[in-house]
Amino acid sequence: MFDRLIGNELIKSQISEMVSGNRLPHAMIIEGEDGLGKHTLAAIIAAAAICEQSNAPCGKCRVCDLVARYVHPDVCLYSPQKSTFKVDTVRTIRNDAYVMPLEAKRRVFILEHTELMNKEAENALLKVLEEPPGTAIFILLTMSASQLLPTIRSRCITFSLQEPSLEQATEYIKSHTDFESEDIEKTVTECGNNIGRSLEILNNGKALQIQNAWELFGAVTNGKKLDALKVCCKVESDRLAIDSLLSEFRRILTDEFKKSACGNFNKESTQNISKMIDIVDEIIVAAKSNCNKALLLTTLCARLCET
Ligand SMILES: [Zn+2]
Repeated sequence: MFDRLIGNELIKSQISEMVSGNRLPHAMIIEGEDGLGKHTLAAIIAAAAICEQSNAPCGKCRVCDLVARYVHPDVCLYSPQKSTFKVDTVRTIRNDAYVMPLEAKRRVFILEHTELMNKEAENALLKVLEEPPGTAIFILLTMSASQLLPTIRSRCITFSLQEPSLEQATEYIKSHTDFESEDIEKTVTECGNNIGRSLEILNNGKALQIQNAWELFGAVTNGKKLDALKVCCKVESDRLAIDSLLSEFRRILTDEFKKSACGNFNKESTQNISKMIDIVDEIIVAAKSNCNKALLLTTLCARLCET
């Protein structure tokens, strides 16, 4: 299960030693920027606490599976409400902590964004940490532990997550997604090897280009050259965005071609789509050369609107 967290070898070996020595602390802080794996590490620790296999967290049993998906009844996740972690939530946690575990031998309480606790909430949490119920384990997630009361920090072991290496981050994203290698490397570098943030940007970028590709399709099939140019203007200064738009647009055309070939469209429209695919393929090849991209996209729109 440790392999779910990329990099951070020291933290993994520390936790592994604690688990095998039956010394898992009752309160921990996991600090790090969003996207570095705070929830992943919290799940690993939670699974280590309640997986009943000899090599806990085995990562293979039902318990580990439920914990990894944050749906185990004895792993409870608490979040801030409207950007404040309120004292009422801490009171709920305190009450829940005195309830016996439902299935496992312990209950794990994971608190998200504890840096958003107000003073009242922090003091209430401190009381729970001072007299923890024997079955409870608390994991506090935060961007920075320095934003928590020193009295809370002194009762917890802190794990500070670090970015993995460029190779580790790109390798992970390559093996879990089908984004282009070049896009992955560029994004990971821009995000300082932060895997979560890179994935967010890659997914958003892809979603945006899918939307642009549909707009382009709508414009060219209605012969609206100006609208088609407007879509292309949005990407013309970003080569990777152009590549992404063209490949999404080609995907739409291929899907439409398959549909029309199945008889949903007339023969003329099938031929038109086929012509458009040929044009896009030519432009995709041309886009890889060192040419004027704005001119290339203008040519694309003009030729597509003529078909
Ligand atoms: Zn397990």
